[in-house]
Amino acid sequence: MTDQDGGQMKKQDPSARADQIRTALASVRERVDRATRTAGREQAPEIVVVTKFHPVEDVRVLAELGIRAVGENRDQEARAKAAEVEDLDLEWHFVGQLQTNKAKYVVRYAAAVQSVDRPELVDALAAAMGREQDKRAAQGTPERDPLDCLIQVDLDPRPEQERPAGIGARGGVHPDGVLELAAQIDTADHLRLRGVMAVAPRGMDPAGSFTELAEISHRVRQRFPDATWISAGMSSDLEQAVAAGATHLRIGTDVLGPRPAVG
Ligand SMILES: *Cc1c(COP(=O)(O)O)cnc(C)c1O
Repeated sequence: MTDQDGGQMKKQDPSARADQIRTALASVRERVDRATRTAGREQAPEIVVVTKFHPVEDVRVLAELGIRAVGENRDQEARAKAAEVEDLDLEWHFVGQLQTNKAKYVVRYAAAVQSVDRPELVDALAAAMGREQDKRAAQGTPERDPLDCLIQVDLDPRPEQERPAGIGARGGVHPDGVLELAAQIDTADHLRLRGVMAVAPRGMDPAGSFTELAEISHRVRQRFPDATWISAGMSSDLEQAVAAGATHLRIGTDVLGPRPAVG
């Protein structure tokens, strides 16, 4: 793995790293609180810190700083990290493109999958959850909670080949397909429909994209009133997401620093 910024992937003085994260997180929390007040909202959205590419030691620091939810976008990395910090009271949110054959691993550690975007993935997650619950019953371990599912919506009107590369350039269901997928999740065993998620398309105004997501969320809630989560906003556009009503923000860079590559 290369390390462009020469920083966080190498061993660093742990207390210096912890200070760095504490300072960065405090400033993100300030931005979120300010945006919350500006929007006239009573409650600030939850910050899900996206820890991909950053070492598991950072996850421990985040837990000490009161972070309850962390996000990852690759199963192998997420699985390894979650196993190393099993002792922490943390929720793991899967936020990346997910192959159906990875569903069986993801349901072992993830509380939520924010990137549900097609019928085959709903089927795979439901089946994997069923097997996980059966396994737990056979072992005498308690059932796990249903898997929280967010529908990832593709808000980019451009054809795929014309999109700038980057997070969210692929993945997501077309807005017209959201209600049908919501109904499928709602009726599936072991899955809990929580709401919608989107990445603002690169090179477009995030405020407009998040307004569209809020409208889609409104339509989903008319049929499924409990599907109240709106996951929107990353480091560069969290203010616009808060203004548009996001309940969850997915923040990586501005808390943990730059990553070696965009994933
Ligand atoms: C990496 C990632 C983020 C975090 O992005 P930053 O710009 O680093 O804050 C958010 N959402 C998804 C889906 C991601 O993959």
